[in-house]
Amino acid sequence: MTGRFADTDVVVIGAGLAGHCAAIEAARAGARVLLLEREPEVGGSSVLSGGSFAFAGTAAQAAVGIEDSAALLAKDLWEVGGHRNDPALIDVYANHQLQAFQWLVDKGVQFGPVIAGAGQSVPRIHPANPAEVVRMLNEEIQRSDTIELVVGAKVTRLLRNRTSGKVDGVVWMQGEHSTQTQVRAGVVIASGGFSRNAELMEEFCPGQAKATRVGGAGSQGEGMKLAWQLGAGLRDMGYVKGTFGNHPDAHPREHTAMLAIYKGAIAVNKLGKRFADESISYKLLGDACLQQPDAIGYQVLDQDIMEQAVPVAPMFNFPKRLQEGRLLQADTLQALAEKLGIDGQALAETVEQYNHDVAEGLDRTFGRQGIVQGYGKLVPIRRAPFYAYPSTSAVIATYCGLTVNPDMNVVDVLGESIAGLYAAGEVTGGFHGKAFMTGTSLGKCVICGRLAGANAARQ
Ligand SMILES: Cc1cc2nc3c(=O)[nH]c(=O)nc-3n(C[C@H](O)[C@H](O)[C@H](O)COP(=O)(O)OP(=O)(O)OC[C@H]3O[C@@H](n4cnc5c(N)ncnc54)[C@H](O)[C@@H]3O)c2cc1C
Repeated sequence: MTGRFADTDVVVIGAGLAGHCAAIEAARAGARVLLLEREPEVGGSSVLSGGSFAFAGTAAQAAVGIEDSAALLAKDLWEVGGHRNDPALIDVYANHQLQAFQWLVDKGVQFGPVIAGAGQSVPRIHPANPAEVVRMLNEEIQRSDTIELVVGAKVTRLLRNRTSGKVDGVVWMQGEHSTQTQVRAGVVIASGGFSRNAELMEEFCPGQAKATRVGGAGSQGEGMKLAWQLGAGLRDMGYVKGTFGNHPDAHPREHTAMLAIYKGAIAVNKLGKRFADESISYKLLGDACLQQPDAIGYQVLDQDIMEQAVPVAPMFNFPKRLQEGRLLQADTLQALAEKLGIDGQALAETVEQYNHDVAEGLDRTFGRQGIVQGYGKLVPIRRAPFYAYPSTSAVIATYCGLTVNPDMNVVDVLGESIAGLYAAGEVTGGFHGKAFMTGTSLGKCVICGRLAGANAARQ
């Protein structure tokens, strides 16, 4: 075959954060790269995200007296994952994360003040504007002589060499037009998760039927299926969970998750009662929310908590939610309950009981010991005005998928690596296990995207 796209060294499937990182590092390793994106625009779920990146042992943490390390991060990941995640992949994250952080900083990414997140024994969220991060990386790709990006290009097949079994090509469609590209080095699948694919969600995550679903339009699980067809193993499929805090009116492509609970708010149900220890992982809170009447909860906060907002981090940008009219405000708890259409007396009693427990340092109802994951001192809810944010559980990412080894080489169901095939980002399984530490999905896109790109190029 002849033509502009007849052959290349590396093909990267999907131009979200992982795909951008993979393409840049593959090119840096000397490869000619073709980056294919099915949607008309790049960015996938990455640009919709909350922008929380988990890194440990950074100067930003040290500057505010937070003692953290790669070892502590690895320990937390192992605990949060319920020991179901792959220790070799935890090591990959822990060992490469500081380098990845520095790589982003060197590219001009600006991080806001460090904040605490779910599953972190010390604060290690480094917030950044995710659309801005992708824009910066995309500019680098646009300037590159060796990376070619094609949008509106959906990969529909992986090709294998009949003799060696190595993945050595892809077929992709632009509208009705089909192109076959031969690949000399390797293919990186960076096609994201499957939160927007109703069929796969029903197949793998029946427990999430009542959860809303959010993600990039391309989060259809296509890349996962392409590798699956070649016998790739799958990991962590049974552990997909929704994230608590998404507004019920949100559009599937809209990021509306708000986490006032991690600044001290409580969460109540339609009966005005708390239903969990709010400091636990927002994934576990998501599960608890699905068990409540109409599968809905309300985060309730006061003016003191409102003033803890961190506008650079979407999940803590409370003023923006207020402006949108989604965060409701009232001078009394009774008036707030009326706006929500829930029992005002029950809400007032719940808050009174909670404040009493906070004063005594003991949450008698659910044993909450800190604002987030045991970290941070509990605060009462007492200074008007009061606020409430209607919150559902939303599957925003699927944190499971292709089995990979520490080189990001895809491994088949029998544990043998599939030559020439790499994966990175949300399409991979094995990093998170049973639950999720905030910031590790974006973190792994950078860490593993870079690794996958570099290793694919070296084939
Ligand atoms: C609302 C929201 C908030 C989130 N907040 C956070 C957070 O704060 N911290 C965190 O760590 N994680 C967060 N996540 C999860 C995280 O954003 C994603 O897991 C991560 O960005 C996925 O990146 P990716 O590059 O793997 O996939 P994506 O960014 O989804 O990119 C994949 C790309 O591949 C394309 N593609 C798919 N199939 C094909 C095909 N067949 N051919 C060509 N292209 C294809 C897609 O169109 C897409 O552009 C959030 C997710 C959402 C939705």
